[in-house]
Amino acid sequence: MSQAINLTIVGSIGIDTIETPTEKREEILGGSVSYACAAASFFTQSGMVGVVGTDFPQTFRDRWTKMNINLDGLQTQEGKTFRWSGVYEANMDNRTTLSTDLNVFEEFSPNLPETYRDAPYLFLGNIHPALQLHVLEQVHTPRFVLIDTMDLWINIAKEELTQVIGKCDMLTLNESEAQLFTGEHSLMQAAKALIKLGPDYVLIKKGGNGSMLYSRDDLFLLHAYPLDTFADPTGAGDSFAGGLMGALAASGKTDAEAIRQAMVYGSVVASFGVEEFSLDRLQRLDRDQIDQRLNQFRAICRI
Ligand code: AMP
Repeated sequence: MSQAINLTIVGSIGIDTIETPTEKREEILGGSVSYACAAASFFTQSGMVGVVGTDFPQTFRDRWTKMNINLDGLQTQEGKTFRWSGVYEANMDNRTTLSTDLNVFEEFSPNLPETYRDAPYLFLGNIHPALQLHVLEQVHTPRFVLIDTMDLWINIAKEELTQVIGKCDMLTLNESEAQLFTGEHSLMQAAKALIKLGPDYVLIKKGGNGSMLYSRDDLFLLHAYPLDTFADPTGAGDSFAGGLMGALAASGKTDAEAIRQAMVYGSVVASFGVEEFSLDRLQRLDRDQIDQRLNQFRAICRI
């Protein structure tokens, strides 16, 4: 019998072409929900909500199945899968999008299988806020909802985004998006402005510089796990948030201390993810390796 879904995750599924200063990979598996479900798979049973076209390779689907990700919420529509390509600058921080072909993603209407609607944890990954709202309308009474977003929606759908953020427990976005959304340069000011939209927690991602968890009565700063080298930062934020939600769902808790612990897990899984392209590293990862790095990380961070 299949396991009950503990965490529902919705987001994009992309076939990516990525160029870094040292390597170019074409037509590899990407998308926010792909990274997030893979990262969550080490901790809990997740269900994927997304759309692919009829051109989507079976080998990509098999990669998710091998990670025990439930695919009942995956739709296949006539047409081509969403494609995205980007190039990284020498510092690997700045990235330019070269092309975005929405394809079947343009008409995506997330429809949750009945078995996903009772999942206590929900991660609304980066898609149009109207679709995030549509997902929220289908779930029964989730205990904890995390919402992610990107600059595109802040620029073109801020009103809808504001509305859906108000219905979530935690908002995550990266540093520049927090500044864009609020017009505040200081991250503390930005977090204070964002918390007024309604969530209990605001989690600001700072790439290789870690993350900041802000709530009305708590502040937590976490560094990123220091890596010597890495291959591809694409999807790091999604792996971080997916790992965090997976670990939180596994704990069965939703308090600030549990979120802090889950952030550490998310950070460790994301650090493995960027060592290779696509899901290549996560696919070969196991829980022992995660726990080993987690212990090293704790030793480095103690003050
Ligand atoms: P990140 O590195 O967190 O920005 O996530 C990268 C992933 O997001 C890639 O695998 C892309 O397939 C996907 N992506 C790129 N552009 C978009 C978009 N406009 N909407 C949703 N997903 C996207």
